[in-house]
Amino acid sequence: MSDHQAGDLCAQCGHASGSHCFVATSNKPGASMPDPLLGGIRLCPEPQCQCFATWSPSHPDLPTITPWVPPRDEIEYLREQIQQIEDPSSGTRLN
Ligand SMILES: [Zn+2]
Ligand SMILES: [Zn+2]
Repeated sequence: MSDHQAGDLCAQCGHASGSHCFVATSNKPGASMPDPLLGGIRLCPEPQCQCFATWSPSHPDLPTITPWVPPRDEIEYLREQIQQIEDPSSGTRLN
């Protein structure tokens, strides 16, 4: 019973889960900006990593939310943005 509980690593890709980017993707009706309370998608900042998951905040008072998942090309665009932000010039990389 210890499959995916190895410290703080992502169960999907094995990279540090704390470094993953949480992107809000769901808008309230009529809202122009995504609302973090409605959940979204989670992407890994490691170059080439294809890790993908959805997330939603857990509120005891609210029903479970199913976040909106963007089309595939939009996800790929977000992934590129995120993986560029994590630039190796600012620190030491451990490979
Ligand atoms: Zn990863
Ligand atoms: Zn991951």
